[in-house]
Amino acid sequence: MTLVKNKLFYKIKRLVGKAIGDFGLIEDGDHIGVGVSGGKDSYTLLHMLETLRLRAPVTFRLTAINVDSGYTGYKKEILEAYLKQHGFDCRMVDTNCYNIIQEKRTPGSSYCSFCARLRRGVLYTEAKKLGCNKIALGHHLDDFAETLLLNQFYAGSLAAMSPKLQADNNIHTVIRPLVYVEEQDIIRFAGLNSFPVICCACPVCGSVDQKRQRMKKLLRELEKDNPHIKNSIIKAIGNVQPRHLMDKKLKKVP
Ligand code: SF4
Repeated sequence: MTLVKNKLFYKIKRLVGKAIGDFGLIEDGDHIGVGVSGGKDSYTLLHMLETLRLRAPVTFRLTAINVDSGYTGYKKEILEAYLKQHGFDCRMVDTNCYNIIQEKRTPGSSYCSFCARLRRGVLYTEAKKLGCNKIALGHHLDDFAETLLLNQFYAGSLAAMSPKLQADNNIHTVIRPLVYVEEQDIIRFAGLNSFPVICCACPVCGSVDQKRQRMKKLLRELEKDNPHIKNSIIKAIGNVQPRHLMDKKLKKVP
């Protein structure tokens, strides 16, 4: 596909390249399974990785992996047709995650975290079958900033996300190349390139995660005074000063 090559394209490309360089996200010989849901983030991630792959000094391979949770109305055929039409290797996985959630979820517990856990498990399994050593996810700068705030405000923990970490299964490395890319740029990029975005069609889509919505609102408010506030938060995640914290596991307090 010919992407629209305007300033925004080069900005996102530069930021993804910077993340790859800063955190050593991609190495020679990597086979990266790219989680694709059909949302704006995953289309952007896949296209940017492919753009960089074509000119990279190292050789690596991409396979798009889609996990269908079984929600009625999820139009994965639109995504599949798009991936094939644009020459991406892809694996579409059908699951019965929805039925498992209906049967096993404890009433009152988070629908999203159960759903995400199940999907992640399927993604890891498929990536292993395909021989991928890395899994790329489409979390962007706003996700990182909001998660840091959420953990501080509601979980009593100073934690965000990592651009590169060992997966729970100890087999894969999870990478998040969009760490420096703001959501508003992804929205514009997806619109400009007419990505056929599809809805997850889950029963709680759009109505969940009120806390995250509150963090978005808070950040928007703060941005009125300091337009660089999210970048400052991202910088803070990479500039931890344990001496000025009070985690006893990190230091012995005399
Ligand atoms: S929004 Fe829906 S599809 Fe996404 S994690 Fe939550 S429950 Fe699952």
